[in-house]
Amino acid sequence: MPKTSEAIDLRSDTLTRPTPGMREAMSQAPVGDDVYGEDPSILALEARVAKLLGHEAGLYCPTGSMANLLGVWALVRPGEEVVCDVRAHIARAEMGAHAALHGLTMRTWESADGVADAAAIARVITPDAGPYLVSTAAVALENTHNFGGGTVQPLDLLADVSALCAAAGVGLHLDGARLWNAHVATGVSLADYGRLFDTVSVCFSKGLGAPVGSMLVSDGATIARARGQRKRLGGGWRQAGILAAAADYALDHHVARLADDHMAAQGFAAEVAALAGDAVDPAAVHTNIVVLNTGTQPARDVVAAAAREGVLLSVVGEQAARAVTHLDVSAAQCAEAGRIVGGLLARA
Ligand SMILES: *Cc1c(COP(=O)(O)O)cnc(C)c1O
Repeated sequence: MPKTSEAIDLRSDTLTRPTPGMREAMSQAPVGDDVYGEDPSILALEARVAKLLGHEAGLYCPTGSMANLLGVWALVRPGEEVVCDVRAHIARAEMGAHAALHGLTMRTWESADGVADAAAIARVITPDAGPYLVSTAAVALENTHNFGGGTVQPLDLLADVSALCAAAGVGLHLDGARLWNAHVATGVSLADYGRLFDTVSVCFSKGLGAPVGSMLVSDGATIARARGQRKRLGGGWRQAGILAAAADYALDHHVARLADDHMAAQGFAAEVAALAGDAVDPAAVHTNIVVLNTGTQPARDVVAAAAREGVLLSVVGEQAARAVTHLDVSAAQCAEAGRIVGGLLARA
């Protein structure tokens, strides 16, 4: 198997490494103790991102999972429930933290690509359920939707869910780990997305290429409470401004270029589809994530065979493999990877 450093690595957009310009910005960052609220680089990033997303305040967190935890916890008390879709990151990829650490329960609505459906959500939620049933305290959406295949949520559907939640007195959280990709793909402003939600998390460590870091935004009082809970989780960091500087650099230099990743994903999907038409519909690829249907072959076998040929993918289901384009792979490499993977899938 080729060494990871030589392979075309499409396992995730978290694999990006900081560029020389980003490292330079990090080395220059003014820092202080963030638990004391004295890191100027963090304070500036929190203010910048809150404003971008149309919210009052921000809390810089080590991971998106922590930002999601704190965002959902702001809306849901122990013994209440959050409602999300069956493929949501908060349900599948946060190791049960919402239940294990905060005592809330989850229910899900079924959706193949994770697209929000106000009617389906309305059928599931039970606000103020009384003394015998669990009350729904919040709904959580994801944009773009990771395991749904990088799907962009249409703004009007998000607005429908926001109106439903407001009318029902239920909170609304957005897992916006890749909201940047949705913004670049649609041209909808980050604030127009952000204002529909009570709490929003975003990641700098995915396509934006920062080594670490996520942000939770909300109103000032919510963020003040979340700051204490972040410390409770062990997330009270100190001179982390050196990391915030990487995120700030990414906001300046790596947002618009996400369009290149989207093009590269189209190129990858087109090459796969040319050889194995059932595996992917390029029209269903909205951003930088391509979910491949491996058909009669187990996804893990396809992923292992691709790795032997120098293309690294991930397994996201029995018959589902995922490729993610990013800053550290070129369009030509993605097209080459598409030809290799398409060849493997055509063998079924
Ligand atoms: C990556 C990701 C997160 C956060 O993951 P961390 O590894 O905890 O930073 C949250 N939601 C989605 C949809 C993601 O893809």
